[in-house]
Amino acid sequence: MRDLYEVLGVGRTAGADEIKKAYRKLARRYHPDVNPGSPDATKRFREIQEAYAVLSDADKRAQYDQFGTVDEEGAQRQTHVRWRTAPPGGGPGFQGFGGFADLGDIFGNLFGGFGRASAPAAEAPLEVGVELEFIQAVRGTSVVVPVRREVACTQCGGSGNLQGRVCPRCHGSGMLVQTDRLRVKLPAGVGDGDRVRASLKDGSRRNVAVVVKVRPHAYFERRGNDIYTVVPVTFPEAYLGAEVEIGTIHGPVLAKIPAGTQSGQRFRLRGKGVRNVRTGVNGDHYYTVQVTVPRVVSPAGRDTARRVGEMYVGAGDPRAGLPRSLD
Ligand SMILES: [Zn+2]
Repeated sequence: MRDLYEVLGVGRTAGADEIKKAYRKLARRYHPDVNPGSPDATKRFREIQEAYAVLSDADKRAQYDQFGTVDEEGAQRQTHVRWRTAPPGGGPGFQGFGGFADLGDIFGNLFGGFGRASAPAAEAPLEVGVELEFIQAVRGTSVVVPVRREVACTQCGGSGNLQGRVCPRCHGSGMLVQTDRLRVKLPAGVGDGDRVRASLKDGSRRNVAVVVKVRPHAYFERRGNDIYTVVPVTFPEAYLGAEVEIGTIHGPVLAKIPAGTQSGQRFRLRGKGVRNVRTGVNGDHYYTVQVTVPRVVSPAGRDTARRVGEMYVGAGDPRAGLPRSLD
């Protein structure tokens, strides 16, 4: 079990407010609805909830501080927090909102817009998660995000009363929840974990932060704005040198394999990476050469391989200089 203070990223002397703030921030980031299909996020989210269940309860916290654990009953209760995983929906590349309506039930005004009784919700930044396909992030796209906000009840004008009785529309709260759909443009090159800001056009001047999650690609690995791929080559291609066609996010490119290339050697294609959102300059594409060996061994191949083996005589032991053990 991880240290609960560590889970929430607070010190052991943190006050209740600080703990609550840390919890809300982390819960927002790791909520399953914001990270659909991510077991890591779900696990993290559970940890965060469990840590908060203990540290937000003065008795349990005292117990934990003293014994480093909480009683069984307490532990049982903590794990019974439920949430509904968002069903997929909202169009291609746009997920994570199906269960959004539920968040209010779990977190109150955590995601903004709700809870007039608690903190000044109008100032809380709205945050919505979107999950993009790799190609959408590389080329840019636009998404429509639902934004919930409170408006004065149209029936009673916000008073909560109608001809001396409780307004049936808003049940006396004077407020109704309205969901607006906000289109947000995500620039080419937007990356996993990026936050793209957009403003609501309702005169409230509130900002919405769209938190981007990008699905990994099976072939193109992205690190920052650079792309990494592996290029399998044959022994003769590596030994004699070759030009091989490799796929980049900008289309196929003829890549040079210099004579004498070693397996694992990496080369760079300048400017063939992802566009930098801020500077507009493309990153690079790095390809790592992987020398392959035919899997099927034939009599003729055996003879050829033996002759190839003779080429290493005089070239030195390829394993010279490797340590033989720890000492
Ligand atoms: Zn009303």
